[in-house]
Amino acid sequence: MKVRKVPQRKCIVCQKMLSKKEMVRVVRTPEGEVELDLSGKKNGRGAYMCGSLESLRRAKKQKSLDRALKVNLSSEVYDKLEEQFALLGEKFAAVECERNHES
Ligand SMILES: [Zn+2]
Repeated sequence: MKVRKVPQRKCIVCQKMLSKKEMVRVVRTPEGEVELDLSGKKNGRGAYMCGSLESLRRAKKQKSLDRALKVNLSSEVYDKLEEQFALLGEKFAAVECERNHES
């Protein structure tokens, strides 16, 4: 019997395991820029999170991306990411970034 394995990643915000297609990758490039990586192939340190706007807003509040990428993100960078997440809209509309028990 063949079992097709769907690659899964852990959301840095809610710690849930999800298939990669429900997630987006945020990358810190070698130049130190933090940006959304929709191709999933950009160089640098990457972090996966749920593709919803809610997920990004929670990341901003908890500074999840700062921790995952080991860098201090300014609120301008989070604002920029929030705009990009908002544009993703429908594609990730069904993805829920659930509250975790961290705080
Ligand atoms: Zn999540």
